Amino acid sequence: MKVVERLFELQELEMGPQAEAAENRRAAENLRKEIPDPILGHYDRLRARGKKGVALVRHGVCTGCQMKLASGPFAALRRDDDIAMCDNCARYLLLCPEPAAPAANPAAPASKKPAAKRGRPKAKPALVE
Ligand SMILES: [Zn+2]
Repeated sequence: MKVVERLFELQELEMGPQAEAAENRRAAENLRKEIPDPILGHYDRLRARGKKGVALVRHGVCTGCQMKLASGPFAALRRDDDIAMCDNCARYLLLCPEPAAPAANPAAPASKKPAAKRGRPKAKPALVE
């Protein structure tokens, strides 16, 4: 799996509705170990400002800022030779796979599983700058 794909998975976990679930926290921790620090750092900085660190690219358009990518970066993204970043919104870019079949995604179950709730208020995510 590519770094950006891991990063995207991490983002889905950490910004998803079940981010607080113990299994997701554990999965996120494991993903973090496999992502280089500078990339993780940039992702965390964006996240600290409430932004997503990874944006999907559909039809050559960054879904983070809705800007069309320049042909250079877009070509590089398609060649897959390096991690690409949006010139406009500075998010990491992940080429959206063509929607071939609406395959079930095991990582994101559609049904909302009620997380084990204890009567405590939600802990804030530990974001130490
Ligand atoms: Zn963008």
